[in-house]
Amino acid sequence: MPIYEFGCPGCGIQTTELYKMGEKGESLTCAQCGHAGLIRQISGFASLGVSGGTGGGTCSPGCHGNCTGCH
Ligand SMILES: [Zn+2]
Repeated sequence: MPIYEFGCPGCGIQTTELYKMGEKGESLTCAQCGHAGLIRQISGFASLGVSGGTGGGTCSPGCHGNCTGCH
């Protein structure tokens, strides 16, 4: 069962919860402030840790990830 992070729109705290199929966080309650309905966070930041010039084809050699003068 996958684990996702949920953010509370009330107080902004992030919690890690087991994610059941079909679960959108609406039935979850914030343990901090009691706000009903949490927002599922999207973990799509894997590409941010990739440095340039590693043969990815999108960054030129010498690019350190900020892509200044790269593309
Ligand atoms: Zn909260």
